[in-house]
Amino acid sequence: MSILIIGGGIIGLSTAYYLSLNKSPSDLQEIHIIDSSPELFASASGYAGGFLARDWFNVHLEDLGALSFRLHCELAERHGGARKWGYAGSHAYSLSVDDVGVHGSKKKGSSGDWILEGTSRANEVRTNSEFDREENGVRRGDVVNPDGSPAVFTPQTGGTVETIAGPEECAQVEPRELCEFLLGEATRAGVQLHLGTTATNIVKDDEGILCGLKVRSGNSEEVEDIACKKIILTAGAWTPRVFKTLFPNSNITIPIDPLAGHSIAVKSPRYTTPFIDPHKRNIGGKDNWLCYSIYAGPTRHWNFATEAYARLARNGESEIWLGGLNDSKLPLPELATDVKNLIDPKNIEIVRATIVQLTGLAKEGVELHEDDLETVREGLCFRPVSRSGNPIVSKIKESQLGDLKVGDGGVWIASGHGPWGISLSLGTGLVVSELVEGRKPSADLSHLGLR
Ligand SMILES: Cc1cc2nc3c(=O)[nH]c(=O)nc-3n(C[C@H](O)[C@H](O)[C@H](O)COP(=O)(O)OP(=O)(O)OC[C@H]3O[C@@H](n4cnc5c(N)ncnc54)[C@H](O)[C@@H]3O)c2cc1C
Repeated sequence: MSILIIGGGIIGLSTAYYLSLNKSPSDLQEIHIIDSSPELFASASGYAGGFLARDWFNVHLEDLGALSFRLHCELAERHGGARKWGYAGSHAYSLSVDDVGVHGSKKKGSSGDWILEGTSRANEVRTNSEFDREENGVRRGDVVNPDGSPAVFTPQTGGTVETIAGPEECAQVEPRELCEFLLGEATRAGVQLHLGTTATNIVKDDEGILCGLKVRSGNSEEVEDIACKKIILTAGAWTPRVFKTLFPNSNITIPIDPLAGHSIAVKSPRYTTPFIDPHKRNIGGKDNWLCYSIYAGPTRHWNFATEAYARLARNGESEIWLGGLNDSKLPLPELATDVKNLIDPKNIEIVRATIVQLTGLAKEGVELHEDDLETVREGLCFRPVSRSGNPIVSKIKESQLGDLKVGDGGVWIASGHGPWGISLSLGTGLVVSELVEGRKPSADLSHLGLR
């Protein structure tokens, strides 16, 4: 029975990957991914930071968060993820400058609260790191600042760096490269990808039961039918629009809003080879590579809560990513590839100045650091932020689909992952594949339904 996945970001690709495992070639031909963009990864999944956490989530997400963290590690071990998509365990630090840290006075809320409040994901840390604090987890030698933090982050005047978590509970990936791996595996197995393709209508049989989708390719007026009884909505911030188009008679709207964020990735002369884990922990492969993340509240040099990731890309290429400059008013364009037209050069200047201050060349007696960084990528993308703060991962009830009957098929939704879609991607993909195949999901989804 054909399955149609609408949206080829990391959630759609993870779903396709897990659906494609252990299938016969003829079943694989019946799994389709359609994406309205002419190319993939122009969306959040291509520009995100790639930070992964085991337990920085609220109670309703604990199970999915832990499952996903484990799957990231296992996938990396099985397929050489360290070299293919930069998987590595990560230390996490918070930076306070003049006593303004990332930890505000807010009480713990849902996992998406901090992003809308303009604070930091470091607020969500619940545990103290299990790793050796005295060593700070960093190899002693040329990569270490006097305070023990890695030299990839330049010391700040009046700044204090505190270790908040370690590589047993945090990791990083280069998200675009992970997406490329998932897509490659799924399409090599036989999953069909349709780019530049938009679903326009549901096709029903004589009894009004879902039996396919009408799709249009590019600007062509021609519409073709793809037979399917199962549809999975994974269009990120565009999911509410897709839902409205396909189910115009539904009495619900999908409670997900777009939240735009500018980001930058650079190369630094102080971070040219992967850091090595001195403890040789088994955190995702034989290479024992390590990454570093740092979280900081506003300072006199930048006026937003920022996060920076010293991460790896393919083959141990090292780069630093920085983001946190968000805009909830920026309207979502029609296509993910249109997002680049909305990049605000002033905001790129701000994120560049911030990464220079955080990782640029320090000069003795000079507070402002020097720009000796090489740009890898500047970007803007939209997170899908759900109003509950938790992603929506469930089958949609027939009564919520307007006048459509689903028979032995159905419509599922996996969206609204907000600031955690990379971390939660693999767990989401696995549980959605289980739901669609009628199996018991591997994580508790009881609070992730569509209300
Ligand atoms: C600046 C920034 C930093 C982030 N950092 C992290 C991080 O460090 N860790 C983490 O876990 N998460 C992070 N995130 C969040 C993460 O990127 C998102 O939650 C995740 O990428 C969402 O994936 P998705 O597949 O749901 O959506 P998307 O990646 O947005 O993909 C949606 C896809 O749907 C397609 N689409 C749109 N309309 C249609 C249509 N009509 N028909 C068919 N297809 C359609 C789009 O073209 C796109 O390919 C970050 C996000 C941002 C913006």
